[in-house]
Parts: sequence; C-alpha cells; structure tokens
Amino acid sequence: MKGKCTCGAVHFELTDKPLIVHCCHCRWCQRESGSAFALNAFIEAKHVQVTAGAVEAVDIPSESGAGQRVHRCADCKVALWANYLGLGTDFSFVKAGTLDAPDKCPPDVHIFTESKQPWVVLDDGLPVYEKYYRRSETWSEGSMKRFHALMDGRE
Ligand SMILES: [Zn+2]
Ligand SMILES: [Zn+2]
Repeated sequence: MKGKCTCGAVHFELTDKPLIVHCCHCRWCQRESGSAFALNAFIEAKHVQVTAGAVEAVDIPSESGAGQRVHRCADCKVALWANYLGLGTDFSFVKAGTLDAPDKCPPDVHIFTESKQPWVVLDDGLPVYEKYYRRSETWSEGSMKRFHALMDGRE
C-alpha cells in the first residue's frame, strides 16, 4: 500500500500488511484528529518506507506520559504516522487516511469506545473494546509472530 501527504512531496509505502488496524475512539485521538476517531494501521516501523520527500518528527504529549512522535511532511506538515514512545520506535501507527486507497485499510477493531461519540453507530461486526484489548486474544497468529520477533529481539 502506498500513501502521500497533501502537497505530494512525501510518498511512502507499506512493505507488509498492517499487524492490526485500530479505530480508536479515545479523547486523545478525537482531539488530535479534530474528529470522532482515528484510524491507525499498526505496523513495524521498518515496513514504512519513505520513497520520496523529507519527513520531520515532532514529539507531542500522549496519554501514557511517554509521548508520541508524529512524523509529518517537512513541507505541508500533514501528519503521516506516529510512534507511541511507550512502545518504542520499532512500531509505527500509520494514519490510514494518508494512504492512496484508504478503503483497502479498514479497521479490525474498535478501541476506547467508552468515549465513542454517540452518533457513531457501530454495526460492522468488529470486536469492540471499552478500553484496550489483550493482544493474544485479538491479533492473528501471524501478527503475533511478527510482533514477538521484534519485541523478543529487543531484550
Ligand atoms: Zn507535503
Ligand atoms: Zn486513541
């Protein structure tokens, strides 16, 4: 899957499928997006490859306190993906709306629905969690393997 910023200077590519795609209804995502939820494709950072243009990293606060590093186009400043620093920089959360074909990156799960806006009606049959979930219960076996391959290598 390919994506780009608004001015077109930055082009990037996902070189593998996302581990999982979150539709996050938390207040932080609502504030950062200015909308009702965020759509984040969770993937190994090494599988997000910049094919053109310059990306700049901006650190902003996050709910965990560890911070979030948002990667933006250096020219038009549109946010493309982020690292949650509590999890580290090995994983990125790609903003699905920046993909050329966002329809091909639908959510796998709804999270933090405790703060879901009431007009957002969920009838897509996906798992719904008031807060977060247990990875082993929600992720595919293949995604768990990829996640552990990176996490185990870190220790
Ligand atoms: Zn741009
Ligand atoms: Zn969120």
